[in-house]
Amino acid sequence: MNYILDSYFGFGDNIYHIPFVHKLAQQGEVFIYTPFPEMFQFPNVYCLKPVTNLKLQNENMTNNGLYSNSSGHKPNGNHLRFNYGEGFKKGLTIIQSFEKLIPLGGDWFFEFTPKPSKQAEGIAARARHSKKKLCVVRLPSVRKEWACPSRMPLMEYFQICIDFVRQNYYIVSVGDIGNQEEFTGPEPFGIDEKRDRHFVNHFGIWDVFDLLNKADLVISPQCNILPMCQILRKKSFFIYGGYVPHAPLNDPRFYQVGFVEPNPFCFCIRNGQDGHRCNKEIPQDILLSKLHETIKRQE
Ligand SMILES: [Zn+2]
Repeated sequence: MNYILDSYFGFGDNIYHIPFVHKLAQQGEVFIYTPFPEMFQFPNVYCLKPVTNLKLQNENMTNNGLYSNSSGHKPNGNHLRFNYGEGFKKGLTIIQSFEKLIPLGGDWFFEFTPKPSKQAEGIAARARHSKKKLCVVRLPSVRKEWACPSRMPLMEYFQICIDFVRQNYYIVSVGDIGNQEEFTGPEPFGIDEKRDRHFVNHFGIWDVFDLLNKADLVISPQCNILPMCQILRKKSFFIYGGYVPHAPLNDPRFYQVGFVEPNPFCFCIRNGQDGHRCNKEIPQDILLSKLHETIKRQE
């Protein structure tokens, strides 16, 4: 049986598609419309360009030679569409929702090795030179094309975490600030290298992936860095704001990352419209004890 698959367009979503595309490819040919063909380089898989206006996705598809492997192969087979929105309403995790569509039957292929980035190696070398470990940080920001301010945690917690680790870690920030994307609050002090400014020493997504691979610790809001750390089995700490909590983004088969979330958690879809303000409070002692626990955890 062959399959035609519509992927989600998010970078992180595509990471969660990997075990399922890999499974289907054991049974027949798979034609997947994805902006990120890099993730599906298995035998029997043919990647096709979807249509989207999203910036990162279009940038990755432009002049991407990996699509040419599919030329001459006409998509055919059962049409499937990934969806977790309905599953969330029923309390299913992302992986459980996808398993309803594509049963894995005990198979679990969840691996990806990012292409080595010279720029990332340069950063790792500077961290070694400073006799520190490497910590990659993403700061809370809101992107105009996919705005979700209720998802973002408070910026002040990042200053607290940076102050906690900066003696021992060389800190590098990543993101895409200035490209229709803005910080949610004043930028913290104590960052050794800022690679999150669009057009100024900016790190692209694949450089970020390799940098995470080289990092000793990652601190981030919930964003595509979460599935990147899950697949890289990376010691990492996620600070949640609201909207989607950690549980539906997790699975026992994933590497277990550290996290902290507000209590009570606001599953907010109002995004601050109508003047509503989500509860994003996390007591400082809980924040730091969870971060400490994550750092100390033995592999
Ligand atoms: Zn709310």
